[in-house]
Parts: sequence; C-alpha cells; structure tokens
Amino acid sequence: MADTQKPIIGIVTSYDGVFKKGDVNSLGTKYTRKIHLAGGIPLLIPARPQLNDDITRILTKMDGLVLAGGVDLHPNYYGEEPVKDLGYVDVIRDSFEIALVENALELGIPIFGICRGMQLLNVAMGGNLYQNIDTEIDDHIQHMQKSGDGSGIHSIHVDSNSFLSHICAEKSFVNSFHHQAIKNLADGLEAVAWSKDRLIEAVVHGTKDNVFGVQWHPEEMRDEKSQKIFNYFIDHI
Ligand code: MN
Repeated sequence: MADTQKPIIGIVTSYDGVFKKGDVNSLGTKYTRKIHLAGGIPLLIPARPQLNDDITRILTKMDGLVLAGGVDLHPNYYGEEPVKDLGYVDVIRDSFEIALVENALELGIPIFGICRGMQLLNVAMGGNLYQNIDTEIDDHIQHMQKSGDGSGIHSIHVDSNSFLSHICAEKSFVNSFHHQAIKNLADGLEAVAWSKDRLIEAVVHGTKDNVFGVQWHPEEMRDEKSQKIFNYFIDHI
C-alpha cells in the first residue's frame, strides 16, 4: 500500500481517573507501535460524552477501529447487576465505544477488538459476559497471569477453517490478562479459538471477515503471530 493510502486506525484511550490515578487519557504505546508496523496511522480519540452526537462524523475520519484493552464493561449493558468481584468500570468509555461499534458495523468500517475490546464487540452485538471467571466457572485454568512480560501463558485451539488459522498454529500460546470472558456469544459472531477450559479466545463476525476480536493481548507479545494479526487487520481494510 502506498504511503498516501495508509489507513487511519481510530483507537479510543482509557481514562486513568477511574483508578483514581489522575485526570489523564492514556493508551499503551505497544498498540500504536504495532499499528505503525502494520502500515496504519493510529488516531487516538478520548471518550467524551459530549462526542456521542458526533460518532458518525468521527467515523468518517477513520478507515478502521481498534478496541483496546481496559477496565470491565458495566454489566448494565447486558442487563445484569454488578457481582461483588466486578472490577473498575468506565461507563463514559463503554457508551462511546459501543456507539462507535454500532455505527462502524452499519458503515462497514473494519473492527479489531482486543481483550476488553472483543468483549465489548460481543456485548454491542447482543451477547453477554461472565463478570468474574473465578466465581462463575468451575475448573477453569489461569486467565489472569502473574508475569507481566506479555509472553504466552496458556494454549488455545484455533478453528482450522478460520482466518486465524492463516496467522497462527492450530495449537498456539497466548498471554491472558482477563478475569471476565464471553458467556453467550452474540448471534452475529462466531467463535474461532478456545482455551482448554472452553472459554472463547477469538471471534469473527459472521459475514464481515474484517470484524474480529481476540481475548489475549497481541500488542504485548513479541512473537510473529502477534504482529501478523495487526498486519491482517490493516491488509483487510
Ligand atoms: Mn485467556
């Protein structure tokens, strides 16, 4: 792709105020680095309630949308009260990103969801979540790894007929930094990778092959498949 045609990739920042860590919008540099390496131009957007009326205008400025990781989705978006082990939530970011997803799907803008981003894609399309894996699922493996270097901790099984099978091996290792997971998959999504305890680790839209999500954090990993996922996204815009 010629430089003048580099796609602009919108990505919403998180708000550190929800952790009481200051009045700051933030995004890890690893996301923007991998978008750059894949040939895209990252465009950071702060979630502001005042911007919710400008969603379609914002989307006209981007060629693709990356949904980054972050805090828990408020369970109200799938009709539940919070369990006692729910983590931090940010309803301003939730409502902004859900509106972006709904409109991006209508406009045919590609979406790549990462961790919280995959869960948000599922909820925006009508699915729901386990609010806390530890207390809601028996016999699960460790999904909140302790080592912070981003390397793989658990295996996934990849559907051999899916887009993901062109990116990583049928049995691959991924990192895992989530205490929530997809419970009921939205009607319009298909699962394409699972952990050993049958939790969904990757999804793709039923009819749009450039709308997908992964439960792990490829931006944190230094292996070949992790950059390839970003490349795949940019190449399918
Ligand atoms: Mn996991």
